[in-house]
Amino acid sequence: MYGMLHPRGDVDRLYLPRQMGGRGLMSVEDCVQAEKKSMTEYAKNSEDILMKAVYREGILCGDEDSNAFKERKIDERMERWKEKPLHGKYLRETKNIMVEDSWNWLKKGYLKKETEGLITAAQEQALRTNVIKAKIEKRGVSAKCRMCDARDETVFHILCECSKLAQREYKYRHDNLARIVHWELCKLYGLNRENNWYDHTPEKSQNNDNVTVLWDFNIQTDHVITHRRPDIVVINSSENTCLIIDIAVPADHRILLKEKEKIEKYQDLRREMGKIWNVKTRIIPVVVGALGAISNKLEGYLKDMNLPNRLESLQKAALLGSARILRRVLEI
Ligand SMILES: [Zn+2]
Repeated sequence: MYGMLHPRGDVDRLYLPRQMGGRGLMSVEDCVQAEKKSMTEYAKNSEDILMKAVYREGILCGDEDSNAFKERKIDERMERWKEKPLHGKYLRETKNIMVEDSWNWLKKGYLKKETEGLITAAQEQALRTNVIKAKIEKRGVSAKCRMCDARDETVFHILCECSKLAQREYKYRHDNLARIVHWELCKLYGLNRENNWYDHTPEKSQNNDNVTVLWDFNIQTDHVITHRRPDIVVINSSENTCLIIDIAVPADHRILLKEKEKIEKYQDLRREMGKIWNVKTRIIPVVVGALGAISNKLEGYLKDMNLPNRLESLQKAALLGSARILRRVLEI
């Protein structure tokens, strides 16, 4: 009724703890079972002669204690969710590359519940994309993307790969993450900024006596370099260091690859800047999956920039951007 659970959303996931990627609902059936089991334990361990008799009669539950029962239920549900061809695909594809913080948006519950329901449905391939209509429902329609008509319309195509959405929709989401990083850098170096990151409009170049922060700036180089316009550059003349910071929101199973890609992409620029300005230059990728996945490196990258832990804001910006894209394209 309120869009909190998609009609095709996963039901096992509903009853899993939020820190494991579930929705944290309590199952009435499990609750009754667990109560019965604690009652059995109580009767079993009681010194009371009547309680002992009750236990001997065996009218209560078996010998599994209530905690073991709860753990078994979680394991079973987790396994069932993971094994389902569509619902479990996200879990299977990301399980070795993302950290537990990736579930923070569920654990802390900071999204509106209907947005949460949309993101979980997207992870479960429960949204009716053209691929689902054509290949699963076999409706005899084209599986191609309704926007570009060039590639199959999967959730991740809509979220990260569609050429028709890159200029506006992806840029809007990407720039929000970049603004959070820029806003934090301005705070760190005492540069001009608004009170809230979402009101913050980065200037092309901002500086104080020691530090210059560039935003979306074409770096002039002696040699021809293809990639010379990273999202943010921080030149610290008092420490002789330079940071090349680039932001991306790829498909969740590609977060580690994307981090590597970013580092590769700016190697020429890194060398060139090192030579021109005689500074020690590092490349920092800031990558969050379109459906919230966070790699084990991101926290370290934020520390390398001397920024506070803003995983939550970055993740939220990525998720809200993705929800907006899904709603616009799928008209839901
Ligand atoms: Zn497309």
